[in-house]
Amino acid sequence: MRLLRQGLDLDGFFERLRDAPARALVLDYDGTLAPFRERRESALPYPGVREMLHAIQAAGETLLVLVSGRPAESLEGLIGLSRAPEVWGSHGRERSRDGRRETGGELPEADRRALSVLAGWIAGEAGESALERKPFGVAVHWRDRAPLDAARLRQRAIERFRSATAGTDLEVLEFEGGVEVRPRGDHKGAVIERLLEEFPRGAAVAYLGDDQTDEDAFAALAGKGLSVLVRKALRPTAADLWLKPPEELLEFLRRWLEASSLSSSGRGKG
Ligand SMILES: [Mg+2]
Repeated sequence: MRLLRQGLDLDGFFERLRDAPARALVLDYDGTLAPFRERRESALPYPGVREMLHAIQAAGETLLVLVSGRPAESLEGLIGLSRAPEVWGSHGRERSRDGRRETGGELPEADRRALSVLAGWIAGEAGESALERKPFGVAVHWRDRAPLDAARLRQRAIERFRSATAGTDLEVLEFEGGVEVRPRGDHKGAVIERLLEEFPRGAAVAYLGDDQTDEDAFAALAGKGLSVLVRKALRPTAADLWLKPPEELLEFLRRWLEASSLSSSGRGKG
């Protein structure tokens, strides 16, 4: 664990967490709670993470929220908690909670056409295994390729994606091991802003993420909560704290659980 923001008082954060009127633990999934897998559908949480999240839910008073570029539906099965957390999928375009699902609406025809053209291009250029079709976007992955091959594919994909999305409401976005196209304005920073509006005053909030797409959330949370980069190697980031998964991630969750269990509102539950 390394503090990245000068003056950050982590013990103080957990103390406030204990007495906060409400707590929200907002989590990215891939690379944060679960290691990357070549087959994205088999990326399960690190050992111990599911049990820790379950215990945090059982201790009470923590709103558990997942935020991901994946479709919301695919996350609910992977996280495998008996009480489903709130899930924001597709970079926030879909929200699923208490068995209800909301979406930000259908995409314009021109956007859907561009996505379909790009899906065809990816399949032809890099094969079906590199293609991820999403309800509101499309991605090409190269995590399993040799560096030179990956660099070539990256360059070609960015060029093709930019030309295909010109004049649409879509944007091209790089992440670690791939590039994707998503609707402009659908990003994790917007999710954090929505959540902060809804949380009670004085709520303690933390956001944990690993990738470039999580930087929008870190920025939105600046001064209002604890932002945590979860990653094996440090990189330039706006996060307050850096954790190496899985050990330090589990330690962070254990401290969250401990603070929740000691709180007056959580005591005696679960
Ligand atoms: Mg991630």
